[in-house]
Amino acid sequence: MPNSTINNVLWTAYQKGQTIIPFGNVATYIPELGKARKNALGVTMLTKDGRIFELGDTDTRFTIQSISKVISLIVALETFGISTVFDRVGMEPSGEAFNSLVELDLNSNKPYNPMINSGAITIASMLLGHADFESMLEKTRALCHDPEIDLNEEVYASETANMSRNKSIAYLLESKDIIYNDVDESLELYTKMCSLNVTTKSLANLGIILAMDGLDPATGQQVIRKRVCETVKTIMLTCGMYDGSGEFAVRVGMPSKSGVGGGLLSVADDKVGIGIYGPSLDEKGNCIAGRPILEYLSKMLRLHIFDPDDIVTGMAE
Ligand code: GLU
Repeated sequence: MPNSTINNVLWTAYQKGQTIIPFGNVATYIPELGKARKNALGVTMLTKDGRIFELGDTDTRFTIQSISKVISLIVALETFGISTVFDRVGMEPSGEAFNSLVELDLNSNKPYNPMINSGAITIASMLLGHADFESMLEKTRALCHDPEIDLNEEVYASETANMSRNKSIAYLLESKDIIYNDVDESLELYTKMCSLNVTTKSLANLGIILAMDGLDPATGQQVIRKRVCETVKTIMLTCGMYDGSGEFAVRVGMPSKSGVGGGLLSVADDKVGIGIYGPSLDEKGNCIAGRPILEYLSKMLRLHIFDPDDIVTGMAE
């Protein structure tokens, strides 16, 4: 498909996202996130043949927040293998908010999935001893092709001073004997991973590697195992958009993961990696502009997971 057509589609998608921004709100439960410019909006699309399409606030750095759960899951799966990880964390959507404790307390002896806070804190506790913050930072920089990713000290301090809920989750995990290291150190690694500063382009780079089942199209190297990528993408599709994951999967049909900093990572298998930034969030904590943007891109560029045609980089060009 010619670049001009893709740029036109992206332009319309962007307008659709912009019109809905006023109906959302920036997150304030981490006070530092409340300083974000509500109207900011950026989109980066990377195709497997190396083309880049961008619009809006694509140079703005924002904290990755829950999208780091994807990276932590990748490292955990590579380190421990699929069966050990899923012995300790489930594979099911929780149907509850990302920071909920109820389903863990009442119904389960393991977190429902690795994309909610309880699951990600358990994963962080598993990683300690095998990885530390520095090695996780290096891994993030490598997968995002972005050596400038660093800890946002202000956001990290702000979340650390306001994380009663995550502490409650971590101690509930400990009470059930399903945290595998010191509670405070596990929370520290989890929170630091959430506080890494990225751009839409960093996320799009991670997205295209996942889209290519771990083969980095920029270097030709296999950087994540194929089976790990398949697993991570499936969890993203079923659990990546919190309790909005089902509707998102139907309408957009791309494995995705959002973060309360306004980031959104989306993957069109074997085609495209997408990074979005829009800190105005919907009531579930997802970037509110993300869905209309991705729904339109999915429809016009045929990116839905169950649409086999590749009109972006494939036969129809
Ligand atoms: N650091 C945030 C928290 O633990 C991440 C939440 C999110 O992005 O979903 O609440």
